[in-house]
Amino acid sequence: MAGPVLGPGSEIRAAIRPNRCLFRARAYLWVMTVHFPFQNTYSALPASFFARVAPTPVAAPRLIKLNRPLAAQLGLDPDLLESPEGAEILAGKRLPDGADPIAMAYAGHQFGHFVPQLGDGRAILLGEVIDKEGSRRDIQLKGAGPTPFSRRGDGRAALGPVLREYIVSEAMFALGIPTTRSLAAATSGERVQRETMLPGAVLTRVASSHIRVGTFQFFAARGDTDGVRKLADHVIARHYPDIGMAERPYHALLERVVARQAYLAARWLLVGFIHGVMNTDNTSVSGETIDYGPCAFMDEYNPGKVFSSIDEMGRYAYANQPQIALWNLTRLAECLLPLFAEDKEKAIEQAQFILGEFAEKFTTAYQSGLRQKIGLFTERDGDAALVQDLLDAMAKNAADFTLTFRRLADAAADADDDSVRAQFTDPSAFDEWATRWRQRLAEEPQSPAERQAAMRAVNPAFIPRNHRVEAVIQAAVNNDYTPFEELLTVLSKPYEDQPQYATYTEPPLPEQRVTQTFCGT
Ligand code: AMP
Ligand code: MG
Repeated sequence: MAGPVLGPGSEIRAAIRPNRCLFRARAYLWVMTVHFPFQNTYSALPASFFARVAPTPVAAPRLIKLNRPLAAQLGLDPDLLESPEGAEILAGKRLPDGADPIAMAYAGHQFGHFVPQLGDGRAILLGEVIDKEGSRRDIQLKGAGPTPFSRRGDGRAALGPVLREYIVSEAMFALGIPTTRSLAAATSGERVQRETMLPGAVLTRVASSHIRVGTFQFFAARGDTDGVRKLADHVIARHYPDIGMAERPYHALLERVVARQAYLAARWLLVGFIHGVMNTDNTSVSGETIDYGPCAFMDEYNPGKVFSSIDEMGRYAYANQPQIALWNLTRLAECLLPLFAEDKEKAIEQAQFILGEFAEKFTTAYQSGLRQKIGLFTERDGDAALVQDLLDAMAKNAADFTLTFRRLADAAADADDDSVRAQFTDPSAFDEWATRWRQRLAEEPQSPAERQAAMRAVNPAFIPRNHRVEAVIQAAVNNDYTPFEELLTVLSKPYEDQPQYATYTEPPLPEQRVTQTFCGT
């Protein structure tokens, strides 16, 4: 049965519909079913955009985490989602009414090499709902079983990567960085074969859409300009409705995606995040961080830092990310050329002009973020050099990225530099810089307390440090989810001190260091 049809922006609520009335000795018992108010649009696009495929039921689904606030925001009933029926849905054993399950087609450049067909090999889109704010959100099961795009994969996900994605995506959300979200994690009761046998799991991912640069490439690579146009129209209507009536909507589309990706790359750098696998199929046209595979936050600042075991050339190293974002956007621009102008030369010129705006957009967002991180309220000549000198000293002295900036906020308030100095192998490297920093701060009227508060609002105390994530996964594999729950609690308020969780601010001890992360696919 199809879900109710609601107009765009109309209020969505979790409709609870009694579907059966069972007679018991003295009472009628209403059996509630989980209702998703689906309003699917992607599955109404031409058949070449996706493959219709249902999740493959798993043996013994068990819900290990439901994101209750997110469920409520999506108009879903958290209590019902936690019922056995809800767990079956979230593990892909049962389809909710109104779902129109599909695997989306896409292509992509992986580490610079073009693969004309990738697609959702283990993710199945159940459908779209309109959230409480009127925004359309995809609800997708990751690890839901094979699809026509699975190639040699099993369509499944292991528990570790599912928990990693849950933790890191929700941490990104709490940090205020555009991201897909995690609605739920469930174990499947099955094991998956990786290097060893591992417990299987399913993640319910929520995104403003799952349309990637690689989705455009899928059609462009087939010379299907009509497909590119239909996709572009869909993306404009969905993500950038205000440009629908623009004189040149497809140019405006590229401009918008360039702006969102430039902002996103800046936000990543400002918290020390390394995506790890910035392939074009992992680059969302909505500007959300998507696909948390071998991602990681760095502990000590090192611009060349790479965690991913498969990134042997360091293509996706921390400081390369803005450049790679632009490289990926250039691939998007190539797909859009036929929509820009009939004259190819002219189209290329127009695309290059728009891509040329990336550098300024990124630099503006990054530099203004850095100024905020060191407590500046205004912009002066020399600020970029001042902050760069701090970063250079941090790199040279293995200073912890997160702690240095967090402690700098306190140093701004009480002139006690001990805790920030302690981050540097040679603390005097900080002293020289601090003198210049304080001179610059003195040019602004804000009080120390005001400055400290502003700095604490942009410099998190808590990030999902790798060793913590790994410890959570280890415990979970042994069926202990307490550390997982506690880490989620801590990371939900990254800018608050939470003294009871102070140990979570600490970098790893030498024996706790995680030097490599894995895709885990
Ligand atoms: P990712 O590295 O997660 O971005 O995935 C790259 C491609 O591999 C996508 O097309 C995925 O759908 C596919 N893929 C990853 N893991 C699996 C798996 N276990 N089974 C089938 N396809 C997979
Ligand atoms: Mg991917």
